[in-house]
Amino acid sequence: MTTLFISDLHLEEARPDITRAFLQFLSDKARGVERLYILGDFFEAWIGDDEHTPLQEEIAAALRELSDEGTELFLMHGNRDFLIGEDFCGRIGATMLEDPTVVDLYGTPTLLMHGDSLCTADVEYQKFRTTMRNRQWQEMFLKRPLADRQTTARQLREISMAKNKGKEQTIMDVTPEEVVKVMEEHGVQRLIHGHTHRPATHDLEANGKTAQRIVLGDWDRNVWWIEASADQPPTLKQEPLQ
Ligand code: MN
Repeated sequence: MTTLFISDLHLEEARPDITRAFLQFLSDKARGVERLYILGDFFEAWIGDDEHTPLQEEIAAALRELSDEGTELFLMHGNRDFLIGEDFCGRIGATMLEDPTVVDLYGTPTLLMHGDSLCTADVEYQKFRTTMRNRQWQEMFLKRPLADRQTTARQLREISMAKNKGKEQTIMDVTPEEVVKVMEEHGVQRLIHGHTHRPATHDLEANGKTAQRIVLGDWDRNVWWIEASADQPPTLKQEPLQ
């Protein structure tokens, strides 16, 4: 039995190669696995479960097939697709996870996060995140007409891209102290997250013991995933995206 983790695919119409790679991943690596965790920024944008684009429908059908075959599917919000709702989860047969969530990974408590909340040096972004994650803001936004939401989403992405260009690289990475703090709060020695697009396995110290932080990569040039089983601790893997 195997468990897989992926994040930051940023699926969008402009990148059919990533969609193709994901469908391939589902029919190949993910076929028959026990659990698949998608830790955020699965879609480049999400403005409500009522949108139903052909891309979303294609992806939903493929995920439905996987969950129908018995794979347990879990989703976590990223900073791009935080408006994915219960309706979409129901369609694909997935369970939405809170960020953060501790899961039992073959006997080892493992903390799962998207990762954006760990980037505390980016004060401006954290303020923006608080607004976007506000329930009332989300409810108001989701009531607006679809075309109107599409325009707002496009504008927000343009603003975000322009702002990130001027930011120091270190600001956009996790704050090491925050990582230790969160791991100690949850009493775990292992953390898996995405978001930063800096795939790596880091050794650190938390709770006075050695600990590990595994960072998933984004699917721009490579397919990145983490594989774990009862016999294999979570291992970061990659293949060229074709
Ligand atoms: Mn992200």
